[in-house]
Amino acid sequence: MRAAVMYGAGDVRVEDRPDPKIHEPTDAVVRVLRAAICGSDLWPYAAMPATDQGRPMGHEFLGVIEEAGSQVPGLSAGDLVITPFTWCDNTCDFCRKGLQTSCRHGGRYGFTGVDGGQGEAVRVPQAQGTLVKLPVAADSALLPSLLTLSDVLCTGHHGAVKAGVSRGDTVTVIGDGAVGLFAVLAAHRLGAGQIILMGGHTDRTSLGRDFGATDIVAERGDKGVAVIKELTGGLGAHSVVEAVGTQESMMQAIRSTRPGGHVGYVGVAHGVELPGQELFYAEVHMLGGPAPVRRFLPELIGLIWNRQIDPGRVFDLELPLDQAAEGYQAMDERRAIKTLLRP
Ligand SMILES: [Zn+2]
Repeated sequence: MRAAVMYGAGDVRVEDRPDPKIHEPTDAVVRVLRAAICGSDLWPYAAMPATDQGRPMGHEFLGVIEEAGSQVPGLSAGDLVITPFTWCDNTCDFCRKGLQTSCRHGGRYGFTGVDGGQGEAVRVPQAQGTLVKLPVAADSALLPSLLTLSDVLCTGHHGAVKAGVSRGDTVTVIGDGAVGLFAVLAAHRLGAGQIILMGGHTDRTSLGRDFGATDIVAERGDKGVAVIKELTGGLGAHSVVEAVGTQESMMQAIRSTRPGGHVGYVGVAHGVELPGQELFYAEVHMLGGPAPVRRFLPELIGLIWNRQIDPGRVFDLELPLDQAAEGYQAMDERRAIKTLLRP
């Protein structure tokens, strides 16, 4: 099969890889119909040290089951399924608490001998707990929207939930990538009264307006915080979603939150160090981390199926798998919000 492999910063190649096969009776092999490049894939694209072995890329995909192992009773060949960006048994104590990203038997695509999602096929461990059947045909126009369920749609939703968004609240979202845009969408759905999107790319923030943002703030850092304070009666927002993961964006989030408010941090943190004393006196709740996508799937699949939300709009570049390198470059240069790949 063909699959995308990263060999170092800026070096993504699509090459031949061994066809995935069932290793464990709990595995399934999925033939990929659609895959996506994630903003988090841009971190290694910017900084991964060169390697001879390469790393299979991608954790956002949907496809058709080609073969299911003997201990995957709920699924069979031909089923159209979506995967969360990590796999899980969905039965252990952590999974039962809705923390499927901490599953005792879980793991990540592209590591420990498991394929990445940006390829023609993937061996999915713990398939019974991980994969969820989609209520559409393989040629459905909803596939791009359903693909966002793998990560970004659920991660934005997670950010809004962790930020404690409730009816009438003022919400600030930091970051105008796909996750930030979907945090706006979630905040809107949860009834936020005012939604301030912080981002500097007008193609993105205008989509953010369509998703429910009431104000756009292009300023960053302390200047950005000052504008948020101005827009919120000098207090800061009730709920702030941090969807970037840098020191600047995390501090911007904490400083944009009013005392007693909530920060939901869902940008993968890189080099973030929190100042203890400032945090102590800020009196904000901080919750976040990787989204337990598996928990959110049933509800959010329903919203897409009912046409209540149209998250597929974030894909503004669609390429054949063989041009994955161009897909990375376009996102890295902010020419594209999000790239959809077709194997
Ligand atoms: Zn588990």
